[in-house]
Formats: sequence, structure tokens, C-alpha cells
Amino acid sequence: MKNLLVMKFGGTSVGSAARMRVSAGLAAAEQKNRPVAIVVSAMSKVTDLLLDTMRHAEAGDRDGMESNLARLRERHEEACRELLPAADQGAVLAQLHDVIDEFERIVNGMAMLGERPPRSVDEAVAVGERLSVVLVSEFLRVSGTPSVGVNARDVVVTDAVFGNASPLMEPTRVKAQEKLLPYLEQGLLPVITGFNGASADGRPTTLGRGGSDFSASILAAALDAAELWIWTDVDGIMSADPRLVPDAQVLEEITYAEAAELAYNGAKVLHPRTLAPLVEKKIPVWSKNSFAPEKPGTRIVPSMAVPQGARAVASMRNVALVSLEPASAEMNGVQLMARSLDAIARADVEVLVVSSSSYRQNFCLLVREDELERSLHALESALALELAHHYVRPIQVDRNVGLLAAVGEGMQGKPGLAGRIFTAISRVQVNVIAIAQGSSELTIAVVVRRDGLEKAVKAVHAECGLGMRPPVPVFPFGQSEGRAPRGKR
Ligand code: ADP
Ligand code: ASP
Ligand code: MG
Repeated sequence: MKNLLVMKFGGTSVGSAARMRVSAGLAAAEQKNRPVAIVVSAMSKVTDLLLDTMRHAEAGDRDGMESNLARLRERHEEACRELLPAADQGAVLAQLHDVIDEFERIVNGMAMLGERPPRSVDEAVAVGERLSVVLVSEFLRVSGTPSVGVNARDVVVTDAVFGNASPLMEPTRVKAQEKLLPYLEQGLLPVITGFNGASADGRPTTLGRGGSDFSASILAAALDAAELWIWTDVDGIMSADPRLVPDAQVLEEITYAEAAELAYNGAKVLHPRTLAPLVEKKIPVWSKNSFAPEKPGTRIVPSMAVPQGARAVASMRNVALVSLEPASAEMNGVQLMARSLDAIARADVEVLVVSSSSYRQNFCLLVREDELERSLHALESALALELAHHYVRPIQVDRNVGLLAAVGEGMQGKPGLAGRIFTAISRVQVNVIAIAQGSSELTIAVVVRRDGLEKAVKAVHAECGLGMRPPVPVFPFGQSEGRAPRGKR
């Protein structure tokens, strides 16, 4: 739809009645000039609470379940009371209770079974977004912006990989156009659940943690939107996570590829798959701060005229390094690598880094810690015979590791940058365990000791000159003395 603006509000942007009021106001203001559809996350921490409740259910811990359910109710009831006029509260509370009762029925089932079937988890965990939709759409309505709540289960069609589903874009486009365009044409503002979808045969799915960004980009692509604005709690995409690096600065502009690499390597500000649906239609994205909407934010664009070299540093703590090595001439390193990667791919594990040594023929794979068990199981069963006959050494696992990645288009054109990055890391006495550059020309990925990760991120950020410039000192008589250097070189 020509001129359509899709907006996504993250958990903190709908984290309380006050935040919902601000976010709804931002959407309503834009809707005065052009059609707007919004995608909302669950209120902050609610998804964690839902997942925790399911774990209590599986363990048969009724008290834990009940106390979480009470917190879930209280949080949304309180938001409802603060957000809406007394006359509207009764009907909206009833809608909220219906959704929470549905959640309670599913967790009761889990408690009876003593397990959490993935399909039921996906159905239950989407409840957080459904509750947000009720509150935000009702608030918009009572404050004069006609709106309609939509469960993305009726719009976003995915494969059946529960917990980490991928969209099927063609059927999604058909459904989105059928369901959402008529609302938009009538001047209604659709408020759509982030995070969830359903398989073609109607089974509920979710798109992975942090998946509401992805929901918004799927819908922006499916509706041929003019722009996507992702509202969060920081001023845009920054040169590093500001929680780790206090002098991180906001990037004015960044390419799809750079943003995707940052997200893939752990920058939580975007879900790693957000940019993919937008590439074909080159839909521009803004990352903006709903706590400071006047700030420009970061514009994410298909490409930039002049690549800028290193732009940002991302990092990931919860990773593990799996090392494999042949132990006899019966198997060489390449064969072992091929067999292992095949097994890992079949287990649907994402490999973050591969690093090998041609002399010892050994190699290591970096995987997310929550996928480690699955990875080991896949490797051990694929290599069972070779391990039993000692053609392959026992698989080694190192959990005391973290991943750091410097990202930027044009980095490959900067000779010596990789060397400077390693020197900066060793200067702060952190061990480099593995290195990967090349698979993507815009990332240099380094595996370091986990306890040194934060120090290493700060050191690389400074070495690449990415920090904010300190304020220029003002001297008497209006003279100022040059610019302060951008970090050490
Ligand atoms: P939302 O709930 O809005 O989706 P998230 O918590 O998922 O927000 O993502 C925003 C957070 O991402 C920020 O608070 C920040 O700590 C973190 N973050 C990590 N890396 C970066 C980065 N490079 N730029 C900005 N924020 C980052
Ligand atoms: N609520 C979901 C999560 O916490 C999705 C999202 O917020 O993007 O993972
Ligand atoms: Mg997020």
C-alpha cells in the first residue's frame, strides 16, 4: 500500500500504561498524515514470565504457576486501570481475563502431562503480545483513533519450526493483503501481535526471541510499506551496546548488511532476521527511541555510497566452542569437518564461527550455549563409530568463551585492521581463542575468554575510534583547541 508506515513497539515501549500512552500517541500522530499499522511486543519481561510459568508447570510446581499467573494478571489489570477511563475498564478487563484464562488452560495441561510440547509453548507464549494488543488498541480507540486488534496468527504464515519459525512470504502476502488492507482502507489502525504466526495448517508458531522486529519487517514487506520504524529504548543503532560501552554513539546511517551482521553477532537491538524480508523491495527502516522520539534515530538503508570501515562492535556471551580433531590417518580434517557440519546442519543448529588449523587438522565451531546439547548429540551420533574406534579424538567443549565482532562495510579495504584489533585485545590481557574473517567481508569475528569479553569489546571499540568524542574544551577568548582524537589509533 502506497505510503503505508509500519511501526513496531518493543517491550519497554509498551512496558506500562504510561509507555503505552506515549507509543499510541506516536502512532496516532503519524496516522493523521498516512496509513499506519503497528506491531506490538509483550510488555517488558512478560515473555520471560510466561516461559517461566510453563517451566513451573512442567515441573508440577503449582505454587510457582499460581504466583506467576497472579503477577501476569496484576500487571495487565494495573495497566488497564491506569490507561483507560473507568467506563471502558470492565469490558477490557474481561478481554484480558479471557486471554489469560486461555494461557492458564494450556499451562494446566502442561502440568498434567509433565511436559511442554513445543506447539503448545508457542501458542501460550504468544499470549504476552495478545494482551498488549488488547490494551494498545483499546487505548487508541478511546482516545479517538479508530483501531482494530489483530492476532498475527491469522496473517503471518510460517513453516512449522516451533520456537524459531520462518515466514512463508507468498501466503503471508496474500493473507496480509486480504485481512489488513480492508482495515487500512477504512481508515482503521491495525494493532498486530508481534512474535507469532501460524503454519499453513493453522498450528501456532513463534519467530524466536526478540521476534517482533521480524514480524514487523515481514508485514512491511507483505504490505509493500513505504517505511518501517522500529521503536525501542535506545537512540538507535549504536557503535556498541551502551550497557557495555558507555561512550558508544548512535550511528546516523547503517546498511542492511551491517545491521544484519551486528544483530547476528549479538546486538540485541534488532532480531537477526529483520532485514531479510526488506531487501528485495529496499524498504527503509528507522530504529528510534520511544523515550526520546524527537531524536533522529538510525536510518537503515540498502547501501551507502562510501563504505565507512569499522562501524560497530557486537558481542555474545552465551556461546560455547566445540573442537574436533582427527586421531588417525583413517580420517582427515576435511572429511571430519564435512561430516560434522552436515550433522550440525541437520540438527538445525546455527554455527556462529568456524575456525580451523590446517597443520593439526583440527577445527572448532562456535554455537549458542542453548544449542550446545543439540549440537553435541548430533555430532556424537554422526561420528559414533569414528569416536569408538579412536579415529577422532573425544569432542572438546569450552564454555568459558564469548564472541566479539567488529562490523562495517569496507573493512576489508583497511590493511592492518585485523592486526590492530588483536593487538588491542591482547593489550588488555584477554586471550584470543579463535578468529574468523572472510566468510563475510564486513565482519571480523574473534572468540575470547568469556571473563575478558567486556574488556575486549571496550578495547576494540576504542581502537577502531568508534567512541563519542569528548566535548571540545572551551578556552578563554572564544578559542578552542583542535578536536580531541577519536580514541587511540
Ligand atoms: P525492544 O524490547 O525494544 O525490542 P531490546 O531490548 O530487544 O528492545 O533491544 C534494545 C537493547 O539492545 C538496548 O537497550 C541495548 O542495550 C541493546 N543493544 C545491544 N547492542 C546494541 C547496539 N549496537 N545499539 C543499540 N542497542 C544495542
Ligand atoms: N516478546 C518476545 C520476546 O520477548 C518478542 C519480542 O519482544 O520481540 O522475545
Ligand atoms: Mg527486541
